[in-house]
Amino acid sequence: MTHDVIVLGAGMVGTSAALQLTEKGRRVALIDRRGIGEETSFGNAGVIEREGLVPVGIPRDIVRLFRYALNLAPEANYHVGFLPKIAPWLWKLFEASDKAGIEAFARATDALSRFAIVEHRRLAAAANVSDQFRETGWLRVYRTPKGLAGESDLHELADRFGIEHRLLDRDALHAFEPDLARILHAGVFWPETQTVAWPEAVTKAYGDRFEALGGQFSRGDARSLRRVDERWFVTTETGAVSAPTVVVALGPWSNDLLDRFDLSFPFAVKRGYHMHFAAERGARLARPIVDVEMGYCLTPMAKGYRLTTGVEFAHRDADPTPRQLEQLKPIARDLFPLGAELDPEPWLGRRPALPDGLPIIGPAPGVPNMWLDFGHGHLGFTLGPISGRLIAEGIVGEPTLVDLTPFRAERFGGQR
Ligand SMILES: Cc1cc2nc3c(=O)[nH]c(=O)nc-3n(C[C@H](O)[C@H](O)[C@H](O)COP(=O)(O)OP(=O)(O)OC[C@H]3O[C@@H](n4cnc5c(N)ncnc54)[C@H](O)[C@@H]3O)c2cc1C
Repeated sequence: MTHDVIVLGAGMVGTSAALQLTEKGRRVALIDRRGIGEETSFGNAGVIEREGLVPVGIPRDIVRLFRYALNLAPEANYHVGFLPKIAPWLWKLFEASDKAGIEAFARATDALSRFAIVEHRRLAAAANVSDQFRETGWLRVYRTPKGLAGESDLHELADRFGIEHRLLDRDALHAFEPDLARILHAGVFWPETQTVAWPEAVTKAYGDRFEALGGQFSRGDARSLRRVDERWFVTTETGAVSAPTVVVALGPWSNDLLDRFDLSFPFAVKRGYHMHFAAERGARLARPIVDVEMGYCLTPMAKGYRLTTGVEFAHRDADPTPRQLEQLKPIARDLFPLGAELDPEPWLGRRPALPDGLPIIGPAPGVPNMWLDFGHGHLGFTLGPISGRLIAEGIVGEPTLVDLTPFRAERFGGQR
């Protein structure tokens, strides 16, 4: 089976790239070892974020640092035995969390996220899945004045980049979400952000649209990729596929393949968990909330209220240790009357993260006709469709809607 492009990895990022390329008339093979959208893109908070302008970095204030060091902060957890391995990466993250790093991240992310919602909605309309989208905005809520003040960088950046947001005092917050306990100091409402009722359904619908346009999805191991006579070949369950161009969109597994081509990027995996809950006494939330100081998100989903945790630093493939989830259950229940747990066990996902917080989108250094699209960290569900558009434009030789310079792989060096 011959194609124009092979896309490896069928999360939100790879599926969007495959669909965008197919829309441009390219014959595309999309390959994953699982079904479409069944890894990290399955269990996220479903938020398509307009205002994600501050990287999730290492705090610079000493009290929070100390809480992190003692593994006491519910928003971050780590496996102690893994610390020596991850320490150099954490140091890079710390360095990138200074003022200049935040500014660079904000500029680059704003350039993408200003098109993220439009691009999602365009794909969703064509894929007949617009009914999954909710235009309710979302709320970042603060338990204390200090918590609110701690996000002043975000509010200042949002003002500068023209992103609408509204400060709500305790009474206004209560009017917005009457079933939240009156223990909060304030909230900020972000009306431009949209959310989906079931992230997996959206990724799968984009996959269905890709197939309806003639794209071919197959199961196979991306690590079988090889280059023969200027063509790429991959072995799948239905035979070998080949194409002159390949896109690597394997999220947190990208280095597993790229090592073989002497490319390796400073990846860490920020693990995160989710659990669904019923609500007691008919309580409801109209939109997701982030309990900022506690570092979790609560999203009304098709299946119940999905609580998603902050970051766990551990080996990518280590067994689940949902300690944060246990810590957060009583904290979340204080805020909203969560009832019975609806999943037999917590879901574990792996955010693919680079130390400057930005993804890599563009050609692979030193490897002909290989394109890279991964490392979207906390924003991969948001940024998948716009990243896919940029990759597609690059591959077909059109000018890209957004300047790809901040996302170039070369910022981490070239081939070894
Ligand atoms: C708890 C949590 C909450 C989050 N909330 C949000 C949110 O609200 N909004 C947001 O924008 N982002 C959110 N994210 C981040 C977002 O989910 C990720 O950035 C995004 O899903 C990454 O997409 P991806 O396509 O790069 O990776 P994935 O979805 O992981 O896709 C990678 C694919 O590669 C495949 N693969 C791996 N190895 C191989 C191989 N050898 N051969 C073949 N296939 C292979 C996998 O099976 C997988 O399907 C959240 C993440 C977590 C963990």
